[in-house]
Amino acid sequence: MDASVLIVDDDSAIRKSMSDFLEASGYKSLHAESGLNALELLKTHHVDVVITDIMLPGMSGLELTDLIKKEYDTEVIVITGYSDDYSYVDAIGKGASDFIFKPFRLEELLLRLGRVLKERQQAKERYMLLGKLEKLAITDSLTTLYNSRHFYAQLEIELDRANRYRRPLSLLFLDIDHFKNFNDAYGHLEGDKVLFRIGQIINSCLRIMDSAHRYGGEEFTIILPETNGRKAVNVGKRIRSATEAEIFYPLPGKMANVTISIGATQYSFNEDTTGLIQRADKAMYLSKQNGRNRVSFLYKEKSEQVKS
Ligand code: GH3
Ligand code: MG
Ligand code: MG
Repeated sequence: MDASVLIVDDDSAIRKSMSDFLEASGYKSLHAESGLNALELLKTHHVDVVITDIMLPGMSGLELTDLIKKEYDTEVIVITGYSDDYSYVDAIGKGASDFIFKPFRLEELLLRLGRVLKERQQAKERYMLLGKLEKLAITDSLTTLYNSRHFYAQLEIELDRANRYRRPLSLLFLDIDHFKNFNDAYGHLEGDKVLFRIGQIINSCLRIMDSAHRYGGEEFTIILPETNGRKAVNVGKRIRSATEAEIFYPLPGKMANVTISIGATQYSFNEDTTGLIQRADKAMYLSKQNGRNRVSFLYKEKSEQVKS
């Protein structure tokens, strides 16, 4: 067990006896004689649990608890005498994990400390599990890009931001060319590898604020915040040429490559989401009609095609 505990008490004899006992029980311990002293130590040391007396010179143990819970991921156990004016409710209200009345036996402190640490560990595990589940719910398992559900949610957020701050935003719509033929020739599993690899290629061409989504079977969407149509076309061109340059080996000794058709469009303030998606899709179809393996841009009013 290498949890570390910070003991805060203005009585040096109490600090020493608690510290000796906890060290003997396998904990690492630090001690401070005041709240300010404790806050200084927290700046430079990792502490799992702070055990503080309520009655301290200067800052009280409750004020200290309040500050710690606002700033740090640290548990607090508060110690008080029966005659003190503070209640259990005050301490828990400030975020303390437990409350011990004086006088207490050190064994009791040890039991409570163990329970607080166990609950802390369980809370961390729950938090991590929740994080994993949340990630799973928005991730496409084949490509590891975001899924289409997340696309719609993310687009709403980004459009709202673009409208509010009058910032440019563009959308790309991608579709693999003649992908049915690839599947027919080499099988679905080889097709899946292509989808995965294209997902990686797309990600490698994007900035941190951009988001790529598997929209449908072999269709992808990319939201490009802070990006006008011209820059979006450039991003599309990079993805198009990187995809074309990628060599696949669907059979031993057999080299193959795939191409994609891309549609690009820029968001026009206050237009609805559907209109924007449909225009990007339409721009992608223009690329198909004009021979595939290209990027087409469609402006809200007039259309302009860019071949790369
Ligand atoms: P186009 O250039 O007009 O887009 O032709 P296409 O063959 O790509 O278009 P079509 O819509 O006719 O076919 C899409 C194909 O994508 C059908 C299916 O075989 C393939 N596909 C869709 N989802 C998946 C998938 O999850 N894995 C694999 N391997 N193939 C998929
Ligand atoms: Mg398609
Ligand atoms: Mg296709």
